[in-house]
Amino acid sequence: MICPRCDDSRADKIFEAPEDGSWELYRCPRCYFVWRNTEEEEVTNPDLYDPRFKLNEEKIAAMDPKPPIPPIRKENRTRHRDGG
Ligand SMILES: [Zn+2]
Repeated sequence: MICPRCDDSRADKIFEAPEDGSWELYRCPRCYFVWRNTEEEEVTNPDLYDPRFKLNEEKIAAMDPKPPIPPIRKENRTRHRDGG
Protein backbone atom coordinates (compact mmCIF):
# COMPACT_ATOMS: atom_id res chain seq x y z
CA MET A 1 0.00 0.00 0.00
CA ILE A 2 1.33 3.43 -0.97
CA CYS A 3 0.93 6.24 1.56
CA PRO A 4 -1.18 8.98 -0.04
CA ARG A 5 0.70 11.70 1.84
CA CYS A 6 4.39 10.75 1.47
CA ASP A 7 4.30 7.96 -1.17
CA ASP A 8 6.08 5.48 1.11
CA SER A 9 5.37 1.94 -0.08
CA ARG A 10 5.47 0.40 3.40
CA ALA A 11 2.03 1.60 4.52
CA ASP A 12 0.03 -1.32 5.82
CA LYS A 13 -3.37 -2.31 7.17
CA ILE A 14 -3.55 -1.95 10.94
CA PHE A 15 -7.24 -2.65 11.61
CA GLU A 16 -10.53 -3.51 9.96
CA ALA A 17 -14.18 -3.38 10.87
CA PRO A 18 -14.57 -6.25 13.36
CA GLU A 19 -18.15 -7.16 12.47
CA ASP A 20 -18.27 -7.20 8.69
CA GLY A 21 -14.92 -5.94 7.38
CA SER A 22 -16.74 -3.05 5.73
CA TRP A 23 -13.78 -0.69 6.24
CA GLU A 24 -10.05 -1.03 6.70
CA LEU A 25 -7.59 1.27 8.45
CA TYR A 26 -4.09 1.90 7.11
CA ARG A 27 -1.03 3.59 8.61
CA CYS A 28 2.20 4.87 7.15
CA PRO A 29 5.37 4.01 9.14
CA ARG A 30 7.21 7.08 7.84
CA CYS A 31 4.80 10.02 8.23
CA TYR A 32 2.25 8.26 10.50
CA PHE A 33 -0.65 9.21 8.26
CA VAL A 34 -3.71 7.06 9.02
CA TRP A 35 -6.63 6.65 6.67
CA ARG A 36 -9.66 4.48 6.00
CA ASN A 37 -10.16 2.80 2.66
CA THR A 38 -13.69 4.24 2.58
CA GLU A 39 -12.50 7.88 2.48
CA GLU A 40 -12.59 10.01 -0.66
CA GLU A 41 -10.13 9.45 -3.48
CA GLU A 42 -8.49 12.77 -2.56
CA VAL A 43 -7.45 11.16 0.73
CA THR A 44 -6.68 7.59 -0.31
CA ASN A 45 -5.13 8.04 -3.76
CA PRO A 46 -1.50 9.34 -3.74
CA ASP A 47 -2.01 10.94 -7.17
CA LEU A 48 -5.05 12.91 -6.03
CA TYR A 49 -3.81 13.90 -2.56
CA ASP A 50 -3.59 17.69 -2.25
CA PRO A 51 0.02 18.58 -3.21
CA ARG A 52 0.04 21.36 -0.60
CA PHE A 53 -0.08 18.69 2.13
CA LYS A 54 2.29 16.16 0.60
CA LEU A 55 5.34 15.21 2.67
CA ASN A 56 8.77 13.89 1.75
CA GLU A 57 11.91 12.94 3.68
CA GLU A 58 13.22 16.51 3.53
CA LYS A 59 10.03 18.08 4.88
CA ILE A 60 9.70 15.47 7.64
CA ALA A 61 13.32 16.03 8.78
CA ALA A 62 12.73 19.79 8.94
CA MET A 63 9.67 19.50 11.20
CA ASP A 64 9.77 20.79 14.75
CA PRO A 65 8.98 18.30 17.52
CA LYS A 66 5.38 18.55 18.74
CA PRO A 67 5.01 19.45 21.51
CA PRO A 68 8.28 21.43 21.55
CA ILE A 69 10.91 20.08 23.93
CA PRO A 70 12.07 22.84 26.31
CA PRO A 71 15.78 23.32 27.01
CA ILE A 72 17.16 21.47 30.06
CA ARG A 73 17.17 23.65 33.16
CA LYS A 74 20.60 23.87 34.72
CA GLU A 75 19.62 26.03 37.66
CA ASN A 76 16.52 26.73 39.69
CA ARG A 77 15.32 23.11 39.85
CA THR A 78 12.64 24.02 42.41
CA ARG A 79 9.33 22.51 41.41
CA HIS A 80 6.17 24.52 41.79
CA ARG A 81 2.68 23.18 42.23
CA ASP A 82 1.40 25.27 39.34
CA GLY A 83 3.89 23.62 37.05
CA GLY A 84 5.85 26.79 36.53
ZN1 LIG B 1 3.36 8.54 4.72
